[in-house]
Amino acid sequence: MSFRPTLDFLLYGWLKAERLNTRERFADHTRETFDAVLDTCERIARDKYAPHNRLVDTEEPRFDGEKVILPQATHEANRAYAESGMLSAAQDYDEGGMQLPYTIEAAANAFFALASVSIGSSMLTKGNANLLLVHGTEMQKAVFARNEFGGRFSGTMCLSEPQAGSSLSDITTRATPDGADFESDPLGPRFRLKGNKMWISSGEHELTENIVHLVLAKIPGPDGKLIPGTRGISLFIVPKKLVDTEGRLTGERNDVALAGLNHKLGWRGTTNTLLNFGEGKYPVRGGAGAVGYLVGKPHEGLRCMFHMMNEARIGVGLAAVMLGFAGYYASLDYAKNRPQGRPTGPAGKDPAQPQVRIIEHADVKRMLLAQKAYCEGSLALALYCARLVDEQHTGEPQAADEARLLLEVLTPIAKSWPSEFCLEANSLAIQIHGGYGYTRDFPVEQYWRDNRLNMIHEGTHGIQATDLLGRKVLMEGGKGLQLLAARINATIESAIQRPALAEHANALGRALQQVGAATKAAWATGEPGDALANAVPYMQAFGHMVLAWIWLDVLLADTQNATETIAGNVGRAGATAYFYHYELPKVEAWLQVVSRRDRTCADLPESAY
Ligand SMILES: Cc1cc2nc3c(=O)[nH]c(=O)nc-3n(C[C@H](O)[C@H](O)[C@H](O)COP(=O)(O)OP(=O)(O)OC[C@H]3O[C@@H](n4cnc5c(N)ncnc54)[C@H](O)[C@@H]3O)c2cc1C
Repeated sequence: MSFRPTLDFLLYGWLKAERLNTRERFADHTRETFDAVLDTCERIARDKYAPHNRLVDTEEPRFDGEKVILPQATHEANRAYAESGMLSAAQDYDEGGMQLPYTIEAAANAFFALASVSIGSSMLTKGNANLLLVHGTEMQKAVFARNEFGGRFSGTMCLSEPQAGSSLSDITTRATPDGADFESDPLGPRFRLKGNKMWISSGEHELTENIVHLVLAKIPGPDGKLIPGTRGISLFIVPKKLVDTEGRLTGERNDVALAGLNHKLGWRGTTNTLLNFGEGKYPVRGGAGAVGYLVGKPHEGLRCMFHMMNEARIGVGLAAVMLGFAGYYASLDYAKNRPQGRPTGPAGKDPAQPQVRIIEHADVKRMLLAQKAYCEGSLALALYCARLVDEQHTGEPQAADEARLLLEVLTPIAKSWPSEFCLEANSLAIQIHGGYGYTRDFPVEQYWRDNRLNMIHEGTHGIQATDLLGRKVLMEGGKGLQLLAARINATIESAIQRPALAEHANALGRALQQVGAATKAAWATGEPGDALANAVPYMQAFGHMVLAWIWLDVLLADTQNATETIAGNVGRAGATAYFYHYELPKVEAWLQVVSRRDRTCADLPESAY
């Protein structure tokens, strides 16, 4: 089955996304307007992205000493994306947007990730501009955010440094006031920044007129020393080229220099850069130091950045999902066409008999069904979370607050689960191709390489797990976890009424109970060292429980539609059965080490490794 019917079913058959138009903000929309957006994105992705996915992998970005060179196809794809209006689609009408729900925006972006994830759908630019809409001054919005939404400028997020990745409290980029009149600059309090930022995606290119870097840096205290911890971190706009209050380029280059391009395993269509800020390569007004304008209040930089974390993490999860789908479709096609071997049993012993196609082997079917269960399940989860984002922004106060709390608990899963299991799906896609899958003649190895990033960026797997068990399930007295349990129980109650689903419902009930008990057991000593030693197995178990819930809920929508005979529904029932029979039993094993606060790994002395 192609991707579009799968997406349509989840959006409309399950989530009832068309009902979002009962919200004032989305009142002008209908299913037709949503479909028109999806159609446009599907077409651009098919025409401008998909044909160039291999090209952007083989023609890596290169620096000619002055400029970064990207394939012409990347320029054209970016232009087509900007011209479609998708950069500003979610914005207000008077900002030039379409007031599109985030659910539909996320669904539309899925087509680009499926076609060529590393050409990209400007996630960073949108995130950057959205952050400025919330925390920037009117002038910063007009000069920077609007030009990003309009496609003239692009945006980056400069958090990481060579010595500070997971631990942002240890950044050392320094921002000092720029002259006595620093507070009176119309673009915001003006500082000079010095420091190095590592891993910056889209940090240098010629795709847009200008690049708006959002940079975390520390303003020194009165003693000239950097304030330790996250408290000292502030946020700055550092444009690559300086602009006036109308957003016009002044002709001055800011002191931001490309120190080098990183040569990555995958995701090669996007530049990844080490940037030097303020080292004097491009002195501004006679001096070294990159000019930066403070966003929000001093020392509140990380709080501002966190504002956009949920959407960024759902976006990363969705990219992982779509790479999983790309491999699934490639391996499904291959399996339907590759003749190899004969049926198991006596009939297969006769070499005079024709070979079967590998999709007829049970083990190949297992690998296909695993991919389907991982990818469709986590697509459903990503869309569910996107729908919660819309609820948080447009729902009645109580529903909005519940959505906020549910997102706190579910976002680490929406990011991490597909990063791990849709990567596993890519590995299975390679396996189905046999030796051919291990060559560059087939696309599946690239999907795996591209997907391998997702467990690393936007908070590594380990950091997401610590966030889930160390913070999210405990916050506000465990209310987020209780809300999730209530939703899962509601699904169980509906499913138990249907004989075909009762067994799944009972299994999900047991998993929920096991996760609840393990959460308590992990924290029984109150020692973070004990509880968090097995945070990743906890997150894996938690994620499997969530995915089992999502699958059962999706299946309920199918049985309510009472159209079980069509292929999509049979496929969903099969994927759910796969998930419950082959995957959900793993929950208990993962939780064993969590519940007994197993310290096998934590206590093994370094010398024993
Ligand atoms: C292709 C790519 C694009 C990126 N894009 C951007 C970008 O645009 N902007 C940006 O700012 N950054 C970006 N990053 C950086 C990315 O967010 C970091 O790589 C990531 O946060 C991890 O930091 P690190 O690489 O320094 O690894 P480290 O933090 O050194 O981590 C190494 C390992 O140690 C583990 N670890 C570290 N601390 C702990 C802990 N306290 N408890 C348990 N385990 C721990 C980690 O989980 C990981 O497995 C990008 C990275 C890549 C590879």
